[in-house]
Amino acid sequence: MGLFPQSFIEDLRLQANIVQVGQEYVPLKRAGTTYKGLCPFHAEKTPSFHVNPDKGFFHCFGCGVGGDVFKFLELHEKIGFQDAVKMLAQKFGMSLPEPAEGGSDDARRDSALRESLLKAHEIAAAYFKEQLAA
Ligand code: ZN
Repeated sequence: MGLFPQSFIEDLRLQANIVQVGQEYVPLKRAGTTYKGLCPFHAEKTPSFHVNPDKGFFHCFGCGVGGDVFKFLELHEKIGFQDAVKMLAQKFGMSLPEPAEGGSDDARRDSALRESLLKAHEIAAAYFKEQLAA
């Protein structure tokens, strides 16, 4: 299966409001610059699930799950990255580009993209920790 250009992924990430997406699954309340609610990924009574709309990340201090809007759908809908991209594109009215040609290059690019997302998640997690400590 082909992959979408990274520029498209980035555009979609900007379009896809993570609070709006998250709120379809779990009620979120504004808490300063972030939103929080009961984590949809583990059972809890006190909200430790945080969503940062500015940075486009979610993070749960209870079970440690976190990532961007694509990751949220991947985990919640139990779908792959490509399907999460398609789902969000449809939801936010962005037409999908033609999948890129050439398999092996795509695979390399995809793994590079996943690495950059993981890195971004680490940054987001650090940011949330700082905020809670403040
Ligand atoms: Zn959790």
